[in-house]
Amino acid sequence: MQTSKQSAQSFSFEFYPPKTEEGAANLALVHSQLARQQPDFFSVTFGAGGSTRDKTFQTVVDIQAKGIAAAPHLSCVASTKENIRAILKDYQEHGIAKIVALRGDLPSGMMSAGEFRYANELVSFIRQETGDDFQIHVAAYPEVHPQAPNAHEDFKNFQRKVAAGANAGITQYFYNAEAYFYFVDKCEQQGITIPIVPGIMPITQYAQLFRFSEMCGADIPRWLRKRLEGFGDDREAVQGFGLDVVSKLCQQLISGGAPGLHFYTMNQSAPTLAILRNLGYAK
Ligand SMILES: Cc1cc2nc3c(=O)[nH]c(=O)nc-3n(C[C@H](O)[C@H](O)[C@H](O)COP(=O)(O)OP(=O)(O)OC[C@H]3O[C@@H](n4cnc5c(N)ncnc54)[C@H](O)[C@@H]3O)c2cc1C
Repeated sequence: MQTSKQSAQSFSFEFYPPKTEEGAANLALVHSQLARQQPDFFSVTFGAGGSTRDKTFQTVVDIQAKGIAAAPHLSCVASTKENIRAILKDYQEHGIAKIVALRGDLPSGMMSAGEFRYANELVSFIRQETGDDFQIHVAAYPEVHPQAPNAHEDFKNFQRKVAAGANAGITQYFYNAEAYFYFVDKCEQQGITIPIVPGIMPITQYAQLFRFSEMCGADIPRWLRKRLEGFGDDREAVQGFGLDVVSKLCQQLISGGAPGLHFYTMNQSAPTLAILRNLGYAK
């Protein structure tokens, strides 16, 4: 599968901060394998607990020190203005120039939402505190955020994040390219000109993907679900089929003008590299 738009493409790869030494060693290897692809940046997710937050910071600083930009995710959950101010300062001191600003989800049992209710408030605060020092990415939902009352209200929220100063959107993953193209068309109609980068979730297993998709509101189309279910425990068959489906999705997105691809790597390099190879982009 080759494309004529090769040179226009940019990639970013998302990691979660490792919890164990073994996880850290794996991530170091995955990072070195994906760094060869010369992505625009690596991003690192952000959890609600204090120790998870420290791990995001450490992971971001380690990645940045290896030469390719790292973008921390930052969420509103349990955050105060004071601690966000301190985190921003730490990142500035370490030369970090990109942030993925989110609301986050309240873990069960956690009662305090923090001082920011929605991501647009966090984006405004970052701009107010640090001017244009950071390039800010925000989440976009071509298939509509699960808590939004309808697509119209959800889109209004996306507009608020852009108005607050977001420089780019990264979408929740999806397997319906049309949802992405409709979302991008709507942005154009509303005068939103920032790049909307599709988030890509490689398919490597079924049960976990299904559970996760239920939670985050990503639709697995019936035909795809049925085919994946049909493979049962045959992991190799799931992976082979998943690779084919996601490679074709990426090809469709690129041909349709997507400005880049953001891969949810789940701290694995092989599925993402296999897709890039199919697209003719692997270096
Ligand atoms: C690229 C990407 C990366 C992510 N990384 C992380 C991560 O690192 N850590 C993590 O915990 N989660 C992460 N998430 C998940 C994200 O935190 C959840 O999807 C969360 O539920 C919403 O976050 P948001 O920033 O999109 O929220 P928001 O943009 O604030 O929207 C949340 C909901 O509130 C609604 N809403 C917004 N403003 C208003 C208003 N004024 N009145 C009423 N309703 C409103 C929206 O329509 C939506 O339904 C990520 C998601 C994506 C797409």
